[in-house]
Amino acid sequence: MSLLVNLKCPECGTIHNARVINTVCINENCRSTLFAQYNLTGGVSKSVLQNRPATMWRYKEFLPVIDEKYIVTLGEGFTPIIPVGNLKQFTLGNEVFWKDESGNPTGSFKARGISAAVSKAKELGIQTIATPTAGNAGGALAAYAARGGMKAIVYMPKQTPKVFKDECRLYGAELVEVDGNISDCGKLINEHALLNNWFQVSTLKEPYRLEGKKTMGYEIAEQFNWQLPDVIFYPTGGGTGLIGIWKAFDEMEQLEWIDSKRPRMVAVQSQSCDGIVKAFHAGQYVSEFADGGFTIANGLRVPKPYADKVILKVLRESKGTAITISDEEMSVALKEIARNEGMLIAPEGASLWQAYKKLKASQWVKPGEKVLLINTGSGYKYLENIIVQ
Ligand SMILES: *Cc1c(COP(=O)(O)O)cnc(C)c1O
Ligand SMILES: [Zn+2]
Repeated sequence: MSLLVNLKCPECGTIHNARVINTVCINENCRSTLFAQYNLTGGVSKSVLQNRPATMWRYKEFLPVIDEKYIVTLGEGFTPIIPVGNLKQFTLGNEVFWKDESGNPTGSFKARGISAAVSKAKELGIQTIATPTAGNAGGALAAYAARGGMKAIVYMPKQTPKVFKDECRLYGAELVEVDGNISDCGKLINEHALLNNWFQVSTLKEPYRLEGKKTMGYEIAEQFNWQLPDVIFYPTGGGTGLIGIWKAFDEMEQLEWIDSKRPRMVAVQSQSCDGIVKAFHAGQYVSEFADGGFTIANGLRVPKPYADKVILKVLRESKGTAITISDEEMSVALKEIARNEGMLIAPEGASLWQAYKKLKASQWVKPGEKVLLINTGSGYKYLENIIVQ
């Protein structure tokens, strides 16, 4: 079963006991995100995956739940890889693929992280889970809490499309609408969680959502027959997926499932929240608070990612880059992909298509390189903000 050993702080190295409830590093001056560590030297073979279910729990040795009976699952993960079809003329000779996360429960890849976090919380005896959200994480938390027989409390910006709010209420969560952005939701919920003893699963302030999202990295390797693509584009909000995929590659190298070759990682941000892009190109190790207001890609409206240092480190280690895309460009891409590919993808995912075209035109993406774009969610939840004509 799970080969979880402990939690380690990537900044100061402090080891934390994984048998008790954890949030961030206990070192007062550090407070970094914690990374779960597993025993990866025991010679686990890829063949264990044979006959496993087509969900992210097929990688259960490298997920944090010790006793399987606590797993709260709705079939998340093992999403398809779909090659670009009728838009192939615009890939200009490269092989470009989508990893399409839109079919996950509640319509986004948030299901992966939340399934892992809710399951582990259940195992640790937690009953009430709260989160600030830009939309999709709240819906996922509400659904998995319902499934797990737990209570969910969600703080969401008032400006978020109605579907995101309605789904939370339908799944029985308590929803608080906040006049502000996700940072404002975070501040408010911090105060209330402390008073009411709620457990928070805010992005990268809780160790196990990262573990769930990491499974995308395992799937990418398995689905490409253990040969990673050359470039991966990722729409970056809090950065959990980007960091998680990178962590999975490290783990699989230790397991000797893959070699040391790594893709270049590209963080794509909305023009509204471009702190990572600015910090990356200025050579800085932390990002500045950046909030230019409304964006149709609500998942990308994260003015200051908690794990900005780690995101920037991954981009540099991978020899990747970072780029911003405007709402107008996302909207054009979303429609182009719908009309030509039959995929109604989230604006966050659509941003990657424009980012690909730009980095191909500038020759940052080289001829013959294999490229993967991660469509993180379904477009259906965003239609309120898409002008259809
Ligand atoms: C949350 C979200 C993102 C950003 O994910 P992070 O892991 O926070 O970077 C991107 N796309 C969609 C659809 C999301 O819901
Ligand atoms: Zn630390």
